[in-house]
Amino acid sequence: MKQGELIWRNNITTSASCPICGDVREKKHMVSVLNRLERGKKIDFYVCSSCDSSFAYPFTYPKCYSDEENPQYCKFYVEIGAGIDFIVNILAQFKDDSSINSYLDVGCGFGYSVDYARRLLKWDAVGVEPGVYGRIGAKALGLEIDPNILGRGSAYDNRQFDLILSSEVIEHVDNPDNYLKLLYSATKSGGKAVITTPAAEYVQPENWVDQVIATLSPGYHAFLYSQRAFDAALQKAGFIGVIVYRHQDRLIAVAGKDCSPKIINPFEKELDEQIRYYKELAVNSGDKNICNGAGFRLLKELVNIGDFPSAFQIWEDLRRAIEVQYGSDFFTNERLFLLSKSAKDFDNYGLLVPYFIAPLLFYRGMLALNAEANSVLAIEFFARAEDLALSDIDREHGYFIESASLLWPIKLHRGIALLRSGRRQEALQHLNEIIFAKLAPRQPWLRALLPDYIVSRAMKEAGVAQLQLSRRSEAKDMFGRGLRRPEESENKGLHEELRQLFSVATAEL
Ligand SMILES: [Zn+2]
Repeated sequence: MKQGELIWRNNITTSASCPICGDVREKKHMVSVLNRLERGKKIDFYVCSSCDSSFAYPFTYPKCYSDEENPQYCKFYVEIGAGIDFIVNILAQFKDDSSINSYLDVGCGFGYSVDYARRLLKWDAVGVEPGVYGRIGAKALGLEIDPNILGRGSAYDNRQFDLILSSEVIEHVDNPDNYLKLLYSATKSGGKAVITTPAAEYVQPENWVDQVIATLSPGYHAFLYSQRAFDAALQKAGFIGVIVYRHQDRLIAVAGKDCSPKIINPFEKELDEQIRYYKELAVNSGDKNICNGAGFRLLKELVNIGDFPSAFQIWEDLRRAIEVQYGSDFFTNERLFLLSKSAKDFDNYGLLVPYFIAPLLFYRGMLALNAEANSVLAIEFFARAEDLALSDIDREHGYFIESASLLWPIKLHRGIALLRSGRRQEALQHLNEIIFAKLAPRQPWLRALLPDYIVSRAMKEAGVAQLQLSRRSEAKDMFGRGLRRPEESENKGLHEELRQLFSVATAEL
């Protein structure tokens, strides 16, 4: 098998019993993938027809819970890998809940949730994390993180908390029912628990291969709950008012002890809270990689909401910090071009660059295009971002999720920047790659990442390029194509623009 390859639904079966529901009937093969822990060896996942969960078989529990022993993994994690936004979105749902004073994150990793809860929500927040990065995070962020396992000698074994979080831990443990009972016993009467885990339902051939591999985390994840099996397991542990929310590859359960928790929106984007926390982190953390990671996340959100003046300020701080760390010629075109070719592997890459470099150059390009109206400069940033994003996704599957998800947006904005600088033929070439999904034959899964609104937008811009080239009939066709596509919330106003452009092209014919 190759890196990044998935083999779906072989004819093999297993009679191993389901680690979730104990069902002993034959299980069908789901998918095979390379083991992250034993290079060159595959690992097989089977699906339980009784509870719809998936599990790895045979499976050996690893010594550590994640890729943290990989020397550069911690750097990757603080720079871009950690889902700080995910954790902030969840905890911010409880920010006005006056019944919460004490908070425990079980398997808190680096400790971002503990830090956010303590610093911004003013809770009495602690964590347990046996892995190496718990110690690193505790030191870097000044947190109380116990390196012992909960229930096996941690400082919090006999305490109970108003809110318990355990995010992406249960899929690593060897007895999930006991683990849930442990979480239940650490929750105060009247308190609540939030538990997140990857969703078995996401492991399907039509989904994006990198995200599927990240969901499987082959070698680390013993099993994946289905939504209904997770719900049943929480009730069995004693929780009441259980709600399991699912969004794509994630399950989030909210459960109460002796009382039902209120309904929350765990997947709602809590942008103000994210920005507030990134600003705190960027200013108040002494570690340069943590600061850079916070600065990058902040820049991204500010560009996305169109706050360009603030984004520019963050960019300037980040640029200076990166030049101090990696060399004053870091952002020159020559150096950036070499980077995409020279890194040998994941670890080596992290010595040469921040792991967020490809996305960073995209957001810098967006500033050049929208805030500076400098399309020539934008083209340069987008070209480097595209090269680096492409080499990222070839380098290590399941890590560079963000680079891969930006490939199509980079291509769209590169096309727009080319059009604005009068290079219409080149613009059309890039826009047509989107409209006809030209990357698809080479890497078919890239198609799964192409959002519909990017295609509609590319049709509008391609039509404008045709109009400028005085090819009115082609322009009219292109606007017509765009108009026949469904209108989407991401693209409010686009249909109206297309309608107007369509009548312009028609009138001029
Ligand atoms: Zn089962």
